[in-house]
Amino acid sequence: MIRNIELSEISDGKLYDAADMAKLGVGDCAGCHSCCCTMGDTVVLDPYDIYSLEKGLGKSFEELQKENIDLRVVDGIILPCLAMKSKVQVNGTGEGASQREDDACSFLNEDGRCSIHTFRPGFCRLFPLGRIYENDTHKYFIQVNECKKERQTKVKIKKWIGIPDFSEYEKYVDDWHYFFKGISERAPEMEDGQLKAVNMGLLKTFFIAPYDIEKDFYPQFYERMSRIGF
Ligand code: SF4
Ligand code: SF4
Repeated sequence: MIRNIELSEISDGKLYDAADMAKLGVGDCAGCHSCCCTMGDTVVLDPYDIYSLEKGLGKSFEELQKENIDLRVVDGIILPCLAMKSKVQVNGTGEGASQREDDACSFLNEDGRCSIHTFRPGFCRLFPLGRIYENDTHKYFIQVNECKKERQTKVKIKKWIGIPDFSEYEKYVDDWHYFFKGISERAPEMEDGQLKAVNMGLLKTFFIAPYDIEKDFYPQFYERMSRIGF
């Protein structure tokens, strides 16, 4: 999602690279599941997330749409996002743990934990980090007002996000961001019919067409990019 905001308003003003240490550790979020509820349609998913969900759950995009994901418009372009409409009775003790959640992510379990932790989406992995894009790449910043707990321990950012082949992942993140930015900048000038066709093409190409979960994600993603002329 492309946002124009003053970094100083939401961060400590520092920018980080993947190899940098940052104060992110929060004791495994014990007793808190705040950022897995009432997030509306803000947890936007990218093609890597959909590949990971298809692989981890053995579900197609259409099956994910029944319970786990919704579609929303981001900067004029339709993208999938996590659905926050499950009703979950979260058991246990601790801050925010014993309560009924009516607007929870479908992957939040009754222990207040993420049931897909090992293949959770990039947005969830990143939190409370954000990315700022400049000069065809990105840096990270800490969103200081987002987490309910005080961050206590320093963790290397690459380890925090925890995705294998991290250099390849970061290159993909940049490529997807700038591709999306290019299209969304052109979206306001498009006629309704053209924008609809573009949206259908993007949805089918990057999300609805199933990924081969036996194969690596990146060659499949770049083959799809080249197919639509990028
Ligand atoms: S996928 Fe997991 S970490 Fe992300 S919002 Fe849902 S329950 Fe929380
Ligand atoms: S608000 Fe902070 S402590 Fe609570 S679940 Fe989210 S990241 Fe963890």
